[in-house]
Amino acid sequence: MNSPDYMAPARLAEALEIKKNLGEQARVIAGGTDLLLRMRDAVLSPSMLIDLRRISLNGIEITDGGMRLGAFVSLSQVLESDDIGRYFPALPAACREFAGPPIRNRGTLGGNIVNASPAADLVPPLIAYDASIVLQSSGGERVVPLGEFFTGPGQSVIRPDEILTEIRLPLMPASSAATFIKLGQRRSMAISQVNLATRLSVDESAVVSEARIVLGAVAPVPLRATAAEQILLGNEITEASIRQAARKAREEVTPISDVRASLGYRLEMTEVLVRRALLETRDRLTGSSPDG
Ligand SMILES: Cc1cc2nc3c(=O)[nH]c(=O)nc-3n(C[C@H](O)[C@H](O)[C@H](O)COP(=O)(O)OP(=O)(O)OC[C@H]3O[C@@H](n4cnc5c(N)ncnc54)[C@H](O)[C@@H]3O)c2cc1C
Repeated sequence: MNSPDYMAPARLAEALEIKKNLGEQARVIAGGTDLLLRMRDAVLSPSMLIDLRRISLNGIEITDGGMRLGAFVSLSQVLESDDIGRYFPALPAACREFAGPPIRNRGTLGGNIVNASPAADLVPPLIAYDASIVLQSSGGERVVPLGEFFTGPGQSVIRPDEILTEIRLPLMPASSAATFIKLGQRRSMAISQVNLATRLSVDESAVVSEARIVLGAVAPVPLRATAAEQILLGNEITEASIRQAARKAREEVTPISDVRASLGYRLEMTEVLVRRALLETRDRLTGSSPDG
């Protein structure tokens, strides 16, 4: 592997100018936990690494309408943040199942998103919480709903001259709960065979006003099971509607067989885990189960 040049600019504008001139040849290095392996395996061979550590992209800020997380917020920071735990508990729940402490200290939210793995663990809860991301270039910024970011395995709508700077989360309606579940070959240090996040919000009559069922590792991109969500919307939550939604979710995914799991197992587990996650989410809404 040829050694790339390395820059740690003090201002974002400098980094954006490098991206404008070099495009994909210049790669942002965040924690490096994905990037360095891809460089070692010659999947990527950038000529320049841009380290943004001197620029403050690791803030966690509550705003009027929600929360802003810098792209360089690490998984350990997510776990340590009381505010994230209080408002978006499925995020620390996903971080707890993520690798081990050394990788959590280095790995970032932005890296997990831009790497665009269909099995990325932080993506289903972020989509379930209606996250948007801010992509900056020297020409300005655009805000993209995270659910519209991914286009295929390792592929997304980020342009070669853009840097992901921020993740935005709107505050959830008052009666909301979410659940994250990860299925791997081991309890820790495993890439997901299936991962998912569910979120339900209910109105004062206990009718579902918002439903999110977001699945990873069962399609080329993290996938919202929108037909399954429709079954829950506008109705009270019952065991029957949960069972029906889980069956529908199974019809919506398009998994493959690979070294981690077979197609049939992934299909089966999609139904089982969606049902389990929705039951847990319902119990959280009624206060009979803790958050996350
Ligand atoms: C042992 C091990 C265990 C792992 N376990 C898990 C796991 O359980 N679950 C899971 O989901 N993943 C896991 N991973 C994968 C990896 O740790 C995560 O995807 C992590 O979040 C990547 O973040 P990073 O900061 O290290 O990204 P990097 O490796 O620095 O970057 C990844 C990609 O994103 C680009 N990038 C990063 N930040 C930006 C930005 N702000 N703007 C533009 N482009 C950017 C980089 O150029 C690169 O292409 C594991 C990896 C290892 C090595």
